[in-house]
Amino acid sequence: MAKKLWNVAIAGATGAVGNQMIQCLEERNFPVGKIKFLASERSVGKILEFRGKPVVVELLDHNAFEGIDIALFSAGGSRSEEFCPSAAKAGAVCIDNSSAWRMDPDVPLVVPEVNAHAIALYTKKGIIANPNCSTIQMVVALKPLHDYGKIRRIVVSTYQAVSGTGKKAIDELRIQTGELLNGRPAEAKVYPHRIAFNCLPQIDSFEANGYTKEEMKMINETRKIMESDVKVTATTVRVPVFYGHSESVNIETEKKINVTKAFELLKNAPGCKLVDDVAHKVYPMPIDAAGQDLTYVGRIREDESVENGLNIWVVADNIRKGAATNAVQIAEILTEKYLG
Ligand code: NAP
Repeated sequence: MAKKLWNVAIAGATGAVGNQMIQCLEERNFPVGKIKFLASERSVGKILEFRGKPVVVELLDHNAFEGIDIALFSAGGSRSEEFCPSAAKAGAVCIDNSSAWRMDPDVPLVVPEVNAHAIALYTKKGIIANPNCSTIQMVVALKPLHDYGKIRRIVVSTYQAVSGTGKKAIDELRIQTGELLNGRPAEAKVYPHRIAFNCLPQIDSFEANGYTKEEMKMINETRKIMESDVKVTATTVRVPVFYGHSESVNIETEKKINVTKAFELLKNAPGCKLVDDVAHKVYPMPIDAAGQDLTYVGRIREDESVENGLNIWVVADNIRKGAATNAVQIAEILTEKYLG
């Protein structure tokens, strides 16, 4: 019997994440019937390709979702807030990459390797949220450790690539680097300070408690996805890397996990690639994880300052596993298990 085909719309198809969504649908052979690319007025009429055929970009508006089964959103939070309800009303299930719906109790927040079962709650609002990119890769790495030893506390510091801010930030790092290397001043437009040859301990705006929104996302989303009251604290930092977020993650567990056990747990864990051979200087790096779908885990050490502590280093491509791949994985489970 022929596989059922699904009509898919990508809202934000011209952006950094949208572009990867197109690639992921192609690479993973997602059974697409009709495809629609949606963006702002700026892009209407632009021609993109899907499976070698031209597709004209249309305007993201309230009438864009007639006949659509799956709507992948990556056009920013306010667009998701405005247009997901219309898409759901038109009968599409929305998979949203923005932060707009993530903490809504009636919207599942899903990382397939961790809580695929939560997809079932999509019926409440017709919306499934994709978590923040830094959260996704961290929970993929922590899930097998949590299942074995129950994590009580997480301390995470991130080293996040500029592609996490979208296509304008990718251009900013490229242009600033070129200007500085040619002895010219570099202008900061996207970030509050220069990003080339610098690190910014600010991702998104600050909240009243002194944390940034990105840090609070990591704290709150982790607890929702892991369905746990685990204590989490985070420091998120933007670094001059194009693709791939890195994270130093320190955990304390109820049951001791030594390095050998951690290796065993992570070696065959879903979505993980264990990259840890320090004798040969082998460990996860963004240059290796970029363009890949797996979460790279390594530098595993016991934290000798506490009783049951572990340090790990986690790297993944923020645009792929941190956004597009995770969304397409959700679409795969949704269509195979719930809509099919
Ligand atoms: P981006 O490269 O700046 O792309 C933004 C996209 O949104 C473009 O397609 C843009 O269309 C569209 N858009 C902007 N304003 C619009 C409007 N008024 N009406 C319709 N479309 C509009 O940003 P991105 O990095 O792809 O991020 C997109 C979303 O994904 C954001 O919500 C972001 O938080 C989320 N996300 C990003 C990452 C990441 O690592 N980059 C990870 C997880 C989640 P035009 O080309 O026409 O302007």
